[in-house]
Amino acid sequence: MNDAASTVPALLRLDTLRVGYAAVGGLHIAVDGVSLTLARGEIGSLLGPSGCGKTTVLRAIAGFEPLQAGRVELDGVVLADARSALPPERRRVGMMFQDYALFPHLDVAGNVGFGVRAPSRAARQARVREALERVGLADHAARYPHELSGGQQQRVALARALAPDPALLLLDEPFSNLDIDTRQRLAGELRALLKAAGTTVLMVTHDQAEAFAMADRIGVMHAGRLLQWDDAETLYRHPVDRFVAGFVGRGALVHGAPLGLGEDVDVLLRPESVVVEAGGPIRAHVVDTAFRGPGFVARARLADDSVIELELPPGCAVRPGDTLGLRLIDDDPVGFPR
Ligand code: ADP
Ligand code: MG
Repeated sequence: MNDAASTVPALLRLDTLRVGYAAVGGLHIAVDGVSLTLARGEIGSLLGPSGCGKTTVLRAIAGFEPLQAGRVELDGVVLADARSALPPERRRVGMMFQDYALFPHLDVAGNVGFGVRAPSRAARQARVREALERVGLADHAARYPHELSGGQQQRVALARALAPDPALLLLDEPFSNLDIDTRQRLAGELRALLKAAGTTVLMVTHDQAEAFAMADRIGVMHAGRLLQWDDAETLYRHPVDRFVAGFVGRGALVHGAPLGLGEDVDVLLRPESVVVEAGGPIRAHVVDTAFRGPGFVARARLADDSVIELELPPGCAVRPGDTLGLRLIDDDPVGFPR
């Protein structure tokens, strides 16, 4: 695992975290052996399918779930291990929940001020105002949650998590309640806002585009395990695990033999790894085509029955059932032993 940030001391350090839930017949282990570090000011994201343990990692860091094993360390302080745990309110960790969990009977200022401990009423109001200014909602302090759009509710939840000035901010699926159009734009805006504030963040999402838009480092999780923890480009270009190869980016693992790369290897073919070329050495049968913009995409079946996606060159008219020639143009494809 890449730990290139070792010149910057880690702010957050998870060491072989193991978290389970009581279940019929014993403990259900939801997070198993997760280790990672995050430097001050970095934005990290856990990425993986529903149920893989992302929220559980955040809840363990925030202090809502005990550890079976391992350790959580923030700024040199042990927050929790298998024997001891600081209560959530002493961890300097802010969490924004997936459903925002705003208090419907409190106005925006009331929501944001909820967890703020300040020496005076004026100091508390100043903290609330500052947090609302950061998220661009200073003029909405007297509104109630139901009077706000989804995007505004998200920003109130963010202001509430930021107001106590946490050392670490946790965001659980921050865009899941927003419509698709808004998500892409808000991911960029949220990243800019958090970077401007210098906030250290660990977020979770099941959406690769969100993780790529937001995070400096991304961890791919599957079935409670963290498979790889790297920057977006490294995950895409050098996945170290078959699941990561399949989950991040478009592409398929195909048998090396029909590509002339050997019997004992599976190779990651991305749409950009091959070109359609009359007389190309790899044979593929077109399954179907679709217009994706700016061009057409075809799904094609190779000799080993794997199906890959191809970007068709302009003017290349193909139909289901056609045979295509392909040429591999990636001279260093990612391979996994069979
Ligand atoms: P994710 O956030 O990646 O969707 P979770 O961390 O919520 O995944 O869940 C991981 C696993 O733990 C799942 O199998 C889920 O069913 C189980 N789980 C989550 N919360 C609880 C709970 N409160 N009690 C029992 N099992 C739970
Ligand atoms: Mg979750």
